[in-house]
Amino acid sequence: MSDQHQNGYNPWQAALQVYDEAARVMDLSYDLWQRMRLPEREFIVHFPVRMRDGKIQVFTGYRVQHSTARGPAKGGLRFAPTVTQEEVRALAAWMAWKCAVVNLPFGGAKGGVICNPKELEIGELERLTRRFATELIPIIGPERDIPAPDVYTNPQIMAWIMDTFSMIKGYAVPGVVTGKPLPIGGSRGRGEATGRGCVYVIQEAAKHLNLKLQGTAAVVQGFGNAGTIAAKYLQEDCGMKITGIADSMICLHQARGIDIAAAIAQKEKTGTLAGFTGAEEIGKEDFFALPCEVLVPAAYENQITEQNAARVKARIVAEAANGPTTPAADKILQEKGVFMLPDILANAGGVTVSYFEWVQDNYSYFWREEEVNKYLREIMVNSFNEVVSTAKKHNTSMRLGAYIVGIGRVAESVRMRGIFP
Ligand code: NAD
Repeated sequence: MSDQHQNGYNPWQAALQVYDEAARVMDLSYDLWQRMRLPEREFIVHFPVRMRDGKIQVFTGYRVQHSTARGPAKGGLRFAPTVTQEEVRALAAWMAWKCAVVNLPFGGAKGGVICNPKELEIGELERLTRRFATELIPIIGPERDIPAPDVYTNPQIMAWIMDTFSMIKGYAVPGVVTGKPLPIGGSRGRGEATGRGCVYVIQEAAKHLNLKLQGTAAVVQGFGNAGTIAAKYLQEDCGMKITGIADSMICLHQARGIDIAAAIAQKEKTGTLAGFTGAEEIGKEDFFALPCEVLVPAAYENQITEQNAARVKARIVAEAANGPTTPAADKILQEKGVFMLPDILANAGGVTVSYFEWVQDNYSYFWREEEVNKYLREIMVNSFNEVVSTAKKHNTSMRLGAYIVGIGRVAESVRMRGIFP
């Protein structure tokens, strides 16, 4: 069992715990609390894939649509051995609140397949993706539910899903997924959007706290899409020293600051940070305790826990990952005075540019990257300010402030739409 599922941690229970607390603070009515607490729809499929040795292997996949009250369901697909229905359920709920925090006309969903993509050869990965996409046909589509990349899925996988869906429809349907390659309807800036959006809110938080970023230290856990880009822009745009980086194999430390471009080059070449010579290896237990101004967990759920939260030294924790801090750890960080940028705000840049991509696909009219980044920044900055003022108004944490903004918007739509029939 990997660490993100250890110690009896259940991401769905963690999500519900925060939802219930936010509902109490905002005085949500019992009817609305009930209606928004459970997912609208949960889809489970078991499907066959022909493997390289000619044998058949049956895989299990999930798609959970938490809410479609504000628009089509929206959320990533994760391919990992650790995927569970409860994890997908939690991630779907977080998508619903997240889309509402940044005020996008989307509901929330998430999906996943239990598999180990590191052990699959490319043909197996393609056949698995195409068969899973075929299984999803009844519930996905540009007006229904729009998948995107998440852990261990990427633009190529989105391209296969787009192609499978389009072949069955008989015409190209780029808007069925986001995070696609540019030539088939991807958006400029989408690949970098999660990390970039996270850096935009860190800059706002630093301004709010009167904290200097230039020349100070940041630590980033997870060195994939979200983590590499966050590290890159914290270094390039904010002038921070990145003194710690980690992937699933290794944690690295260098007090002078790590050359992020070199680390990215190594990761691209070998698939791992192990063997990178520009920093020293340190134990995972010491990684989150590294002295720094900004800590960015960008890997998985259940990373900052009751066991290590007390040792966190960062002034700002920006959750590029979904659910990296357990509710118990969150309380410890709050007591220590750490300024939290909760996941449903801090990593909302990804879905924001996914929204731009969907809009561009619908109009078949594509924007320049500067436009994408300009609108992204506007949305992230406005959302940060709304969360700060909501947290202040309710005299509560940034996390609950974000939940109150998100849940409040979904609740308004659910209430106005009423119940059919
Ligand atoms: P990715 O597959 O590109 O990268 C994941 C990284 O995490 C890899 O470098 C992997 O080695 C590392 N990792 C895995 N287990 C680890 C561990 N135990 N300790 C340290 N590192 C570990 O995935 P991603 O898209 O960057 O997603 C990372 C997180 O960001 C997830 O929580 C995801 O839900 C969230 N997120 C991603 C996006 C997006 O647009 N990609 C958007 C919003 C949120």
